[in-house]
Amino acid sequence: MDITRNKIWRNWSGSVACRPRALMKPQTIDELTELVGRCGSEGRRVRIVGAGHSFTPLVQTDDILISLEHLQGIEQVDRERNRVTVLGGTQLKRLGEELLTEGLAQENLGDIDVQSIAGAISTGTHGTGVNFGTLSTQIEGITLLTASGELLECSPEQNSELFKAAQVSLGMLGVIVKVVLRVVPAHQLHFQSRREHISDILASLDERKQENNHFEFFWFPHTEWVQAKYLNEVEAVPQERKSTFWNDLNKVVLENGVYWLISESCRVAPGLSSAMSNVSAFGVASIEETDYSHRLFATPRMVRFQEMEYNIPAEHLKIVLAELRNYIERRKIRVHFPIECRFVHSDDIWLSPAYQRDSAYVAVHMYRGMPYQDYFEHAEEIFKRYDGRPHWGKMHNLAADELARRYPRWHDFRRIRAELDPNGLFMNDYLRQLFA
Ligand SMILES: Cc1cc2nc3c(=O)[nH]c(=O)nc-3n(C[C@H](O)[C@H](O)[C@H](O)COP(=O)(O)OP(=O)(O)OC[C@H]3O[C@@H](n4cnc5c(N)ncnc54)[C@H](O)[C@@H]3O)c2cc1C
Repeated sequence: MDITRNKIWRNWSGSVACRPRALMKPQTIDELTELVGRCGSEGRRVRIVGAGHSFTPLVQTDDILISLEHLQGIEQVDRERNRVTVLGGTQLKRLGEELLTEGLAQENLGDIDVQSIAGAISTGTHGTGVNFGTLSTQIEGITLLTASGELLECSPEQNSELFKAAQVSLGMLGVIVKVVLRVVPAHQLHFQSRREHISDILASLDERKQENNHFEFFWFPHTEWVQAKYLNEVEAVPQERKSTFWNDLNKVVLENGVYWLISESCRVAPGLSSAMSNVSAFGVASIEETDYSHRLFATPRMVRFQEMEYNIPAEHLKIVLAELRNYIERRKIRVHFPIECRFVHSDDIWLSPAYQRDSAYVAVHMYRGMPYQDYFEHAEEIFKRYDGRPHWGKMHNLAADELARRYPRWHDFRRIRAELDPNGLFMNDYLRQLFA
């Protein structure tokens, strides 16, 4: 077992820091089981970390932090049922490549691929596409190592209530050791990105959502412009990557290097934010690319930021955007990072923000080091008025009672959590405030 003691741990954005007594990385499931059993009997507290890409203090602990970094890979492929069994620590990027060697793929992904599969589903990570649910909906079974040290299987057929709770569970029900993932045949997508006028996007929003497999847009505040992204399946026979030098240059140099310079200038002189948002909008290049699906969903994100993202019923997107624009312009908010809008199909997972509603997700961002609290709080007021539910991995300020009103199965989740972990082995202060 890899053990690091008393070293500061930080999440990706730097919004959370803690000094765990020990960061433990078991090499086998047996080692993991023995470790959790020992923590339970010694009265320790345990949190589990994936890639540390959540903005909220989900992982924060001064006691034991467990990482499944050494428990990665595909264990089993069931071709007849289009399912694979994957170890919980598997990084999405690695999963994509391993699936490809089997001629398989995930049906949808978010816009980065460095998360672990267990970490991603635990917060309800999502991509975009009206015919696709969050990543948690791709899960057909979970093996959970519970506080009692038991390895518990759950699926729609077995422990079905537990399954609905475990599909989005913020690491509170135990360690997700393995998941059974529904997969599709490997396929190629055609990616297009271009600058468009926001009024054109909003005028034909429904058509764009319906006519493209995966559609999203980023609106640049203080401007009339968006970066629109379209991903559609192509019939092409899978072959060599058809990317161009220009596309790679755009992703790494313009979207990251130049964007970092723009962002630093806004941090030093926040009054430049509006002008820099315009510069960024005009820098949006028209690019096209065809490649295997998992390689195109993800984009390198080297410029660090803070983020709040809310799920709202899909039909409220236009009014929510109009109110956000009005607020940003009226109050001359110093922000140059775009507002991201995506679309997700409804599901039946108890803590999923998309529970029982076709959804739009709206995300506000602020460059790391620039004040974000006021902006996010006002945006949150707007999201809340339109029945918003926060993304569990992104910043929000909702207390337990407000969350309970927004999640119809809130108390069922709490009941299952209390049954499985009565002593709160897997809780930290943040989660105890919300769920205990
Ligand atoms: C740059 C960036 C881009 C992002 N893009 C998107 C996006 O496109 N779409 C989207 O929806 N979200 C996005 N996110 C948010 C991110 O996908 C989620 O926060 C996700 O949960 C992070 O996964 P992780 O592996 O880093 O998990 P962590 O952040 O380390 O942990 C998340 C939760 O999972 C739990 N957990 C981790 N491993 C296990 C396990 N084995 N068993 C039980 N519980 C476990 C943790 O305890 C914690 O509660 C983005 C975040 C960043 C920083």
